[in-house]
Amino acid sequence: MSTTLITALRQQIEHLDAQDLRRRRRITTGACAPWVEVDGQRVLSFNSNDYLGLAADARVVEALREGASLYGAGSGASHLVSGHSKAHAQLEERLAQFMSPHLERVRALHFSSGYMANLALLTALTGPEPREAVIFSDALNHASLIDGARLSRAAVKIYPHGDVAALEVMLAASTARTKLVVTDSVFSMDGDVAPLPELLMLCERHGAWLLVDDAHGFGVLGEHGRGALEHFSLCSSSIVYMGTLGKAAGISGAFVAAHETVIEWLVQRARSYIYTTAGAPALAHALLTSLELIAGDVGHTRRAHLAALRQQLRALRLPLGWRQLVSETAIQPLVIGSNADVLQAADTLLAQGLWVSAIRAPTVPAGTARLRITLSAAHTAQDVAQLKNALQAMVVEV
Ligand code: PMP
Repeated sequence: MSTTLITALRQQIEHLDAQDLRRRRRITTGACAPWVEVDGQRVLSFNSNDYLGLAADARVVEALREGASLYGAGSGASHLVSGHSKAHAQLEERLAQFMSPHLERVRALHFSSGYMANLALLTALTGPEPREAVIFSDALNHASLIDGARLSRAAVKIYPHGDVAALEVMLAASTARTKLVVTDSVFSMDGDVAPLPELLMLCERHGAWLLVDDAHGFGVLGEHGRGALEHFSLCSSSIVYMGTLGKAAGISGAFVAAHETVIEWLVQRARSYIYTTAGAPALAHALLTSLELIAGDVGHTRRAHLAALRQQLRALRLPLGWRQLVSETAIQPLVIGSNADVLQAADTLLAQGLWVSAIRAPTVPAGTARLRITLSAAHTAQDVAQLKNALQAMVVEV
């Protein structure tokens, strides 16, 4: 083994340390819930994306148990070989039905993660000739969209965050045969919502696809939890929708819902769909129960509770230099600025039993390090009051 190579890597890690950019994993014990044991300490967590509190819901856990007894532990192969089970087929059918008010002639395709779904979409939709395609991507899009765009080998044009006018100029100037506008619906580190109606109008005018990554909207936004498309009452065959199933749905995986022809093309050409083992059928089986809960009274009640918790956390009094971003979603970031300051703030909270993650570059632009508070319907008003009190106590009285 080359010690030179090892030394070079060690130096890079030391460099991360020196900039307060080294990441560390913490070990949690027990199920995903607001109160968790982390590294042996019992804490109140504001970190998970389990927005509806379904990750440990007894009905979902029981469905997972049932799924394991029906289908065993693993799928055994990729979808196109022999891994496509009845559970996957039922889930896709149910997801397509659920999203049908918002997409024309819709079919759904299940993936084992949102990351893979995004790689699939960006590479397949710019094919078969990526040199004739251009991807128009919001400046704050999620890493999986950025990586998908890179992997596609199509040209990528980045438009300023949420800037419809700038995008319009770019689209008007483009002569590409295939145009693909790509955006998070709810931005994962800012919590704001993309101007989807305006983006859709532009896409329809310029003959472009609109790829909506609704990882943080599915299950949470819209009266029935159908996400950002329901929130804005949109319906179009120009939309290609990606929803994840590891956040509000409480399990893992993702799906694409789109016109049946798009789905058929993905099945034929998307390498991150074709060349990977299908997710465990038991997970797909349990997701049927998650979906039922999201769409029914449980989802309705929990979305209302989440909205109340969000209200409770608004208009915080904060230490000098901190900024609470405007967010109508469960993601409630407090921008602090420097890496050292955000780490110190997170440590101060953790010392009081409150776990909020410090988000730094490259996840967010350098100089905008932040505490990313995420709320869940599993939190109580008392939990949020505890966090609020701890934050208020950090304000230095002058
Ligand atoms: N898109 C967005 C906006 C996300 O926040 C995430 C996950 N953090 C993903 C895609 C990837 O989804 P998954 O975790 O299922 O791979």
